[in-house]
Amino acid sequence: MLLILFSGASSGFELIGAKWPTPATDMAMNFSGYNGGVSPSGTTWSQAYREAAQLWSDSTPFSFTLTDQSIDPCVGFSSGAGDDRNGTAFTSTLCGRSFGLGVLAVTITYAQVGGTETLETDMIFNASQNWDVYHGPWLSDASEFRRVAAHELGHVLGLDHEDDVPALMATFVVVGSTVETPLVDDIDGANFLYGNATAQDPLVLNLEEPTTGSVKTGVANIRGWAISSSALDRVELFVDGVSRGEIPSGGLRKDVASNFPTYPNASNSGYSMAFNYSNLSEGNHTILVRAFDDAGSSREFSANFTVVRFDNPFIQNASSVDLSNATVSNDQTSIFIKGLRADGGNYDVTLRWQTATQSYEIVDIR
Ligand SMILES: [Zn+2]
Repeated sequence: MLLILFSGASSGFELIGAKWPTPATDMAMNFSGYNGGVSPSGTTWSQAYREAAQLWSDSTPFSFTLTDQSIDPCVGFSSGAGDDRNGTAFTSTLCGRSFGLGVLAVTITYAQVGGTETLETDMIFNASQNWDVYHGPWLSDASEFRRVAAHELGHVLGLDHEDDVPALMATFVVVGSTVETPLVDDIDGANFLYGNATAQDPLVLNLEEPTTGSVKTGVANIRGWAISSSALDRVELFVDGVSRGEIPSGGLRKDVASNFPTYPNASNSGYSMAFNYSNLSEGNHTILVRAFDDAGSSREFSANFTVVRFDNPFIQNASSVDLSNATVSNDQTSIFIKGLRADGGNYDVTLRWQTATQSYEIVDIR
C-alpha cells in the first residue's frame, strides 16, 4: 500500500514528509516526442531539464542522475502502486485526471503509508501549455520550462510549496517573476533534508528533533547530528535565545557515516538529550543548536515549534491521571480524549501518529 503525495502549501521551507534515503536519485527524461524535442527558442527540452537539475546539484548536497529514456510517468498511478521508475513527460492529462485550471506541471511522490522514505517520483508537464525556454521575467504568453522543471525537481527531493518567503517552491508563478533558481529558503530546505555538506564546508549540522512546525509536550528528545572535517568540539543548546548548556554528542549514526563517508567520526556524530518541553510555556518557541569544531568553525540550526501542556509540567503521580469520566473517540487520523483528569485539572486531549517517534503522541491539550 503506497501513499501518493501531490506536492500542498503553508514560514521557512516546507517538506512533503518523505525524502530519498541518500541525497541522490535518477530521473528518466526523453522529450523527443514533444514538438520535436525542441523549444521555440531553440533550446531542447532535455538541455533545459539538465540545467534545472544542475541548479540543485550546484547549490545543495542533492544530485540528479538524468537518463535519456522514455518512461511513462503514469504507470502504476491508477493502482497506486507505482512502478519503481521515475519518469518525466509532457502529457495531456494528469494521468487520466484533469490537470485543473492553470496547472503547469505536477510531481507525484510515492511513499509507504506512514513512511518517510520516497520510493518513486514521476513528473508530468501539461502539454496544453504554451512552453518555451528563456531567461528573464516570466512572460504572459509563454510558460518557461526550465524554471518549472527546477520547481518540480524541488518536489522530487522532498520540498513542498513555500509562499511566506521568496522561493522557487512558491505555489504560483506570476507574470514578471524573475525567480529561476533555488533561493535561500529552497536551499535551506534541501540542506535540512540531506545535510549541508559541500567540499568547502568543514562542518555540517542537522537538527532532527524538534522539527519546525511540530507540536511538543512532556519529556522528549532534542537530537540531530554534526560532522566536521577536523573534530567536533561541542554542540550548544539555546531555547528562545537563552543558553542551556551543551548537548551530549558522540552517539552512533551509521546512516550519517554512509551519507558522508569522507568525514572522520561521522559514525559517532549523533547528539541527543532528553528535554521536558512542558517546562516551557504553552505556545510557540525556538530551539537553536550551535556546533563548534576544533578548527573554530561553527554552524547553527534552529526550529520553531509549539508546546502544548498540562498545567503541571511534570505529573509525578500516575494515579492523578484519570480516565474514569472521560470519553474517547477517533477519526481517521486522531484519537480524542474528552474529560481527562490530570492533577485535578480537566482536559481535552488529542493524539496523532508521529513519524519521528513512531507512536501516537499528544498534539493538543485544552
Ligand atoms: Zn509545485
